[in-house]
Amino acid sequence: MDFNRAVIKVGSALVAPTKAGCSGQYTLAIAQFITKCQQQGKEIILVSSGGVAAGRSVIHHGSPRLSVAIKKAMASVGQMQMMANWQRFFDTPCSQILITQDDLEDRERFISIKETIQIQLENGILPIVNENDTVTTEDLKVGDNDNLAALVAQVCEADSLFILSDIDGVFTKDPNVHDDAVLLPKIDEITDEIYAMAGTSRNHLATGGMKTKIEAAEKATEHGINTYIVNGSKSEVFASLIRKVNPGTKFSADKNIISAKKHWLKHTVKSQGRVTLDKGAVNALLNQGASLLPIGIKSVARKFDVGDCVDLIDQQTKTIIAKGITQYSHNELRRIKGKHSNEIESTLGHEEGAVVIHRDDMVILEQSIAPKAATKAPNKKIIKEED
Ligand code: GLU
Repeated sequence: MDFNRAVIKVGSALVAPTKAGCSGQYTLAIAQFITKCQQQGKEIILVSSGGVAAGRSVIHHGSPRLSVAIKKAMASVGQMQMMANWQRFFDTPCSQILITQDDLEDRERFISIKETIQIQLENGILPIVNENDTVTTEDLKVGDNDNLAALVAQVCEADSLFILSDIDGVFTKDPNVHDDAVLLPKIDEITDEIYAMAGTSRNHLATGGMKTKIEAAEKATEHGINTYIVNGSKSEVFASLIRKVNPGTKFSADKNIISAKKHWLKHTVKSQGRVTLDKGAVNALLNQGASLLPIGIKSVARKFDVGDCVDLIDQQTKTIIAKGITQYSHNELRRIKGKHSNEIESTLGHEEGAVVIHRDDMVILEQSIAPKAATKAPNKKIIKEED
């Protein structure tokens, strides 16, 4: 269960377990897990609930059944406390991103959210997303943070989604009622039977914590994102995740989706240019899942614009090792090649990000460098020096 970029969704039961303000009882262990992931070079986006629960004690309400207006007022004040509760566990900054369904359906806003998260991740910031409850109406609502997390995972092209709650995963029967209920470690296809096992149905009027989690898993896996439901109230769960052992239920990503994206880049998009890379960059791309930085570029051939596809060539073997969508034109790359990313702005007078080609926009054509195989490269296209 390895991953490079994950969305972690944390429910109100873990953020504000007593429903009267936020607590570190469970969030401390979650924050420690996030920090460990970040130290391993993984990128994390947090989707956190808890606004309403955290704001409950400071808004007069009277009845146990809260009106929507009261809940929004609570969410707005509780959001501050929820953010502060997370930030106290991190030495690096957290950012607050509040969104609605409408934001995700509008192409320009979708891209704007995606770019914001991308830049924050490149700068070591932890984006923390919640629904913008103050401005939601029935039409604009995602409605629950499980489904919101699945949409966020799509926006930021995460490879994994972890849904943390106070239940262990999906069981064959309701474990509170049946002693013989068994935890399902892996679900390859989400069928009506799976919804039934979780004690719910696809009926949109049905309620229940597990329903929205399975819906979220269905949305995410259809977009090639592995989804896990795990118990975030147990610290041993995080020890298992670090050891790459699945402690809950895994919903496997639809493999066809992953290959469709790679297929498109590999077979459909025509490369406009060629960028030759030094040994370090080749190793980083092939063996470490890294993005391409200007420092690893040795030479640039042919004319291309921002957003064009280019071939990435190993300087030593002269073979095409990858294809990707560039953030900089050929003229710009000629000026920044061999330089550190922090010199881009002073060299060009502007900056489109620290990376030339992000790994999400790249398809590798050779999996790893085996020294002998690389020199033989019998079926690889050998490129003649041009630039
Ligand atoms: N936006 C809500 C809150 O912050 C959470 C909604 C949910 O947990 O599904 O309280």
